[in-house]
Amino acid sequence: MGLEDQDSIRILRDVLDPDRGSHDLVAQFYSRWFAVDLTARDLFPPDMANQRRVFGQALCWLCDEIIAQRADEPVAFLAQLGRDHRKYGVTDQHYATLQDALLHTLRSHFEQSWDQRLSEAVHDVVALAVGMMSGAATAETSPPFSDGTVLEHLRPTRDVSVIRLKMDHPLSYLPGQYVPVQVPQWPRRWRYLSPAIPADSQGYVEFHVRSVPGGMVSTAIVGESRPGDRWRLANPHGGLHVDRDDADVLMVAGSTGLAPLRALIMDLARFAANPRVHLFFGARFPCELYDLPTLWEIASMNSWLSVTPVAEHKTDPPWAADYPDPTPPRGLHVRQIGVLADVVTRYGGWGDRQILLCGKPAMVLATKAALIAKGAPAERIRHDPLAS
Ligand SMILES: Cc1cc2nc3c(=O)[nH]c(=O)nc-3n(C[C@H](O)[C@H](O)[C@H](O)COP(=O)(O)OP(=O)(O)OC[C@H]3O[C@@H](n4cnc5c(N)ncnc54)[C@H](O)[C@@H]3O)c2cc1C
Repeated sequence: MGLEDQDSIRILRDVLDPDRGSHDLVAQFYSRWFAVDLTARDLFPPDMANQRRVFGQALCWLCDEIIAQRADEPVAFLAQLGRDHRKYGVTDQHYATLQDALLHTLRSHFEQSWDQRLSEAVHDVVALAVGMMSGAATAETSPPFSDGTVLEHLRPTRDVSVIRLKMDHPLSYLPGQYVPVQVPQWPRRWRYLSPAIPADSQGYVEFHVRSVPGGMVSTAIVGESRPGDRWRLANPHGGLHVDRDDADVLMVAGSTGLAPLRALIMDLARFAANPRVHLFFGARFPCELYDLPTLWEIASMNSWLSVTPVAEHKTDPPWAADYPDPTPPRGLHVRQIGVLADVVTRYGGWGDRQILLCGKPAMVLATKAALIAKGAPAERIRHDPLAS
């Protein structure tokens, strides 16, 4: 029966579910894999906790999709995963040893209940996952990553960096997409960042990075990046976009969540006629609205764009004494005080708009909930995945 044996796949699903305590099983699998294939250990960061959880979740989700007899999304997901894993240097040999280690670990785990039916189902699920990933990786002809050099590191605020790079080869992405990035300060710790300008044929890229308290990579980028650093960027993801033939647009950006929305606005600026775009750009303090001059320049030349700066606090903290004057330039809306979710919905539900949200997960979720409560249809609201 194999993949059609829903009962057996349900049993497999449950032992892989992190919420049902799959931690030890997944840890055993990785230990076995790294023991039989020493080169596999080098593919992963030292701290495996997140990797183990994501691995369990992904296999669990795959089992759910097979049980529900849905094929399209799992096939697309596994193929994308295989293409993405090329950036870690995963080879056919790694896939072969992974498959053996996973099957061996599961067989040992099931012990007495390992019968012909379960064996067939488990073999088929594992073969499907590994086969789709390695097949897609082999079929992909584009390079798995591309390197570039940091040209400039600006610090517009204490916590935010603007990093400008020139790639060795121009990077292809759509405005609004994000890319996996590896910086020299933290090898093998890939993080997603969203280019703040549309793709450039000369290879220039700009990122806006906010240092997250306790964050490993973001604090290193903001604290230590310098011209000459070599960054590695992999293939783009994401579908944040503006449909120019659709309704007017509401954009809500918290801090460096501005980056992909700014790239979309810059891309729209190529056209004379666009849907109206209203951007709310928010931060905690007025001084942290770091990119208002650029937004002002674009808005001053493009009547379809209006920008409302939003700060949670009315005045700046003492540490910002030397910062430039945070008064919004003439032509932008008066700065509003409050959290984005409240300020944006003070103007209504925006239900007739294409709605794009970007920023830290808590802000995106709060703004989405507030908009839906005001009547905006959930399907009109777009945002990137909230976690990497
Ligand atoms: C699709 C996508 C696009 C992104 N684009 C950008 C971008 O353009 N610019 C940018 O600065 N960041 C962006 N991020 C966030 C970025 O990828 C990292 O997650 C963030 O920089 C933290 O990484 P870290 O290694 O410093 O923190 P970690 O060491 O991974 O985490 C440390 C702590 O910080 C928390 N944390 C992780 N991310 C955030 C966050 N975003 N806000 C608040 N707390 C967090 C974690 O829960 C953990 O408790 C994006 C994330 C996603 C999913």
